[in-house]
Amino acid sequence: MSRPYNFSAGPAMLPEPVLKRAQEEMLDWHGSGMCVAEMSHRGKEFLSIAQQAEADVRELLAVPDNYRVLFLQGGASLQFAMAPMNLLRGTEKSQRKADYLNTGSWSKKAIAEAKRFASVNVAASTEHDGTFTRAPAQAELSLSADAAYLHYTPNETIQGVEFPYVPDTDKPLVADMSSTILSRPIDVSRFGVIYAGAQKNIGPAGLTLVIVRDDLMGQAMDGTPAMLDYKTHADAESMYNTPPTYAWYLAGLVFQWLKDLGGLAGMAEINQRKAGKLYAAIDGSDFYANPVQPDCRSWMNVPFTLANPNLDADFLAGAKDAGLLTLKGHRSVGGMRASIYNAMPEAGVDALVDFMAEFERAKG
Ligand code: PMP
Repeated sequence: MSRPYNFSAGPAMLPEPVLKRAQEEMLDWHGSGMCVAEMSHRGKEFLSIAQQAEADVRELLAVPDNYRVLFLQGGASLQFAMAPMNLLRGTEKSQRKADYLNTGSWSKKAIAEAKRFASVNVAASTEHDGTFTRAPAQAELSLSADAAYLHYTPNETIQGVEFPYVPDTDKPLVADMSSTILSRPIDVSRFGVIYAGAQKNIGPAGLTLVIVRDDLMGQAMDGTPAMLDYKTHADAESMYNTPPTYAWYLAGLVFQWLKDLGGLAGMAEINQRKAGKLYAAIDGSDFYANPVQPDCRSWMNVPFTLANPNLDADFLAGAKDAGLLTLKGHRSVGGMRASIYNAMPEAGVDALVDFMAEFERAKG
């Protein structure tokens, strides 16, 4: 029997071939007699896994040589603090300036955390009556001349709002790519720092990927703990302390899976098609709705509401019976949300679209 389709926003579905490979290698990785979770992080077996994973993700994202790829812990939430602590310049808080774009729940959290260290300028906000339905246009950004960096959230996981462009700035651009990384090719050279919690498009929770440009390291704020200094981790090849070895290994299997499928250009095509089918189903019906401005709709997280919210529980129960799991929307916005990251097969989206049509016929 095939497994159900899991639309969770994260931790999310992993590619089935990755899970099977991990299962095969569980008791004895490549004749080592060890599970990867049992290996010393400094042993040659794990080092080979770690180095291959880094090489593969560098290849997938075409990471230039003047960037370091770090495998850290603490989730994207710790990056809300680490990025400011490493990038802000100036001894007084009033001198430590940063620009932020406010486009949804996650950028709001990033802003709140940065305010502990920085004088934050919200260079654009698309909040309207507590909701967010679009990204700002470049012309709407009020960037400050003396900001140390510009931070934004290319894909807002909760609101399903995505930037259709990369903001232009002469300052280092810091991007929380937690829910969009690896969904398509990107030009890493446009960014100063890219960070992402792993549990959506990379692998299991517990690992955080950070891509940082060389020249931005080594000037962390006074008092920054060693563990929160990018340079500590870059100098130690992400082995300053014990890294999340098993998560790193599984991420490596995901990177190999992506390479086997032909890399990110092909994945982008599939992702765009998957999202297109789901939005078409929503837009083609008066029974379902998505509030996001069409050019800012996320490829990865598709929130939608039912015209009659009293049917929400029925919808979720019916979906579960049809093998479609975790469609409940985030508690802050209600309704439904289908997260359709790389590992969600197109057949899963087709099954959801079919179920939605059938549910509407029965209840609409
Ligand atoms: N940023 C974004 C865009 C997210 O989607 C999430 C998690 N859903 C976070 C930050 C927080 O990540 P973590 O739980 O890894 O700290």
